[in-house]
Amino acid sequence: MLKQLLFIASLVVTAGVFAWTMRRIFLFFRLTKPYPIGKWGKRIWLMLKVAFGQTKIFRFPFTGLMHAVVFWGFCVILIGSIEMIIDGITGTERVLSFMGPVYDVIIASGDVFALLVLLAILFFMARRLFSGVKRFEGIEMKHKSHMDATIALSLIFLLMVSLLGMNIYYCILHPNSPEGVFPVSRYVMRYFIPRHSVSFNTAHAWHEVYWWSHILLIFVFANVLPYSKHFHVFMSVPNVLLSRLEPLGYLPNMPEITREVKLMMNPDTAFAVQPEGEQAPSRFGVKDVEDLTWKNYLDALTCTECGRCTSVCPANLTGKKLSPRKIIMDVRARMKEKGPGMVKNGKENTDGKSLVRDYITPEELWACTTCNACAQECPVNINHPSLIVDMRRYLVMEESAGPGELNATFTNIENNGAPWQFSPEDRLKWADGLDVRVMSSLPAGTPPEYLFWVGSAGAFDDRYKKVSRAFVKILNHLKADWALLGTEETDSGDVARRSGNEMLFQMQALMNIELLNGYGVKKIVTCCPHDFNTLKNEYPEFGGHYEMIHHSQFLQQMIREGRLSMDSDVFSGKRITYHDPCYLGRANGEYKAPREVLRSMGISLTEMNRSHSFALCCGAGGGQMFKEAEKGNKEVFIERIEDAIATGSEIVCTACPFCMVMITDGIKYKNREEEMKNYDLAEMVVMAMGL
Ligand code: SF4
Ligand code: SF4
Repeated sequence: MLKQLLFIASLVVTAGVFAWTMRRIFLFFRLTKPYPIGKWGKRIWLMLKVAFGQTKIFRFPFTGLMHAVVFWGFCVILIGSIEMIIDGITGTERVLSFMGPVYDVIIASGDVFALLVLLAILFFMARRLFSGVKRFEGIEMKHKSHMDATIALSLIFLLMVSLLGMNIYYCILHPNSPEGVFPVSRYVMRYFIPRHSVSFNTAHAWHEVYWWSHILLIFVFANVLPYSKHFHVFMSVPNVLLSRLEPLGYLPNMPEITREVKLMMNPDTAFAVQPEGEQAPSRFGVKDVEDLTWKNYLDALTCTECGRCTSVCPANLTGKKLSPRKIIMDVRARMKEKGPGMVKNGKENTDGKSLVRDYITPEELWACTTCNACAQECPVNINHPSLIVDMRRYLVMEESAGPGELNATFTNIENNGAPWQFSPEDRLKWADGLDVRVMSSLPAGTPPEYLFWVGSAGAFDDRYKKVSRAFVKILNHLKADWALLGTEETDSGDVARRSGNEMLFQMQALMNIELLNGYGVKKIVTCCPHDFNTLKNEYPEFGGHYEMIHHSQFLQQMIREGRLSMDSDVFSGKRITYHDPCYLGRANGEYKAPREVLRSMGISLTEMNRSHSFALCCGAGGGQMFKEAEKGNKEVFIERIEDAIATGSEIVCTACPFCMVMITDGIKYKNREEEMKNYDLAEMVVMAMGL
């Protein structure tokens, strides 16, 4: 009875402290903005795959296995812990044993996992203390972060020791318990603690000591976690369940901007009317914690500070100030600082500081290439680029504080329909001498099978104009039913959106959609992964629904259908590597099509160390192509060209206009123009076909 009373008292204290902490966090959540969720079937599948299956963690197999062991061990051991709590309250012993063989399996797994988790924790401790893992360091990794990790690892170590101790003495007390139920503990008992060397009373006393140690450690652990990075133990599963389902390349819409843009474009439109009861936004983008969604804050609470995001960030790798982990940790720290005042005095309460500028500098925000390497790597599905763009939206639309070069780019897009100072009238000059059909010249209501979306770079960039011409040669060789918009095409708005100018993006998107829908376009093929991503993932929200095909996918399809064959040995004996464009690969999961096309030319690729979803960005995305890079110790394109040079390749194949500019610059920077060439996939097909 005394044991029960003591247990209930400690449980009440634990639950009380935990509830107080949770209430505080809940009140902070109430300060944030809504974030819509739905599609529960997809979400549950994602949770099973990423959270329970630990699929992202396994991208690095050995450490992944260690982490997975700890996670799976926690899941199994949790059942035993719940049983201990019921036993403690009711005064029973192993109350769940009525489940028979199922119970035996759970207990046996818990016993084995206790040992495995113990070994994994020893590995993690040794790694922290002796191996100097780079991703554990960084300006955001203060003493507290390291202390947190050490405390949590020590607590888990003690939890496993106490669990095994309890099991061992349980086996001594119950020598006839079913064989195999405590495989590890029974082994230790047999070979290290001979049965008759311990009296019943001593064994009972030790069992009690371990039982109490284990349960009290659980209580302490539960209340320490919410104050440390190890809060992810609770938060990772719900965070993955609630994480975004869209492809990584998608950026969330701002409906309040859509209304403004529609009003500007057509003051009579019904869309321009503010829905009843809906407040006009007090601010565009994210300046401080009250502008965040509850999901942003949930992400911040879930971050494990593992640094996987920062370790793959091209900006961070090249010495820039940006660290995606710091962005997420800053959100948590700022809410901790500002939240209590807002809870007490209302949302308008201010302390004269803000998340943007006092915690996160514009220099950090403008260094992002939106390559999505961070989001790809994050084991708990945090999406950093989307938050970074939200803060850029604030800087651009509220403060007009974008980098000067980007402001000039915006003006060009607005005036010329392209990021450069070219006349829209010259948009089809690249096709001089080629056999092309423009949509406006076709009889109304007879759209071709494919619309070739040329994109601003395809129309105006001197080097990429050659790629557009090469692709037209292929289309004509195939006798495909295709046409293009010609001078009616205007910039997709990708650069504007990723640079924070949502207003400009939406204006471009709505103009293009009106045009495309007016022509009844269904299928669009493009050489530009950025436009491919924008039209495929972002235009549908504005009424533009098209079957989007990247030229690598189009070529793959033609080869598979037997319509395109390349017997030429023009590339035989050549060492060739392929650079994955972020907006084709990570953003949209297309790694296979370009490789299959290259294989069909008889090319056996020499892959770079970082390829497929691990590929390093070229450094041009997210508006970087149009501005000076932030200060660092290297340009991103140099880091990437070094990857390519290390393969000893004579040709770097790319499939994106921005990548082409950067890779070509890299080759020039390294004075390799003689030994190394950069071709687009379409150009290589044309060469292989002798067109
Ligand atoms: S999107 Fe790329 S550049 Fe931006 S923070 Fe993530 S990894 Fe770094
Ligand atoms: S954001 Fe994700 S990858 Fe980055 S430190 Fe946090 S948990 Fe790790």
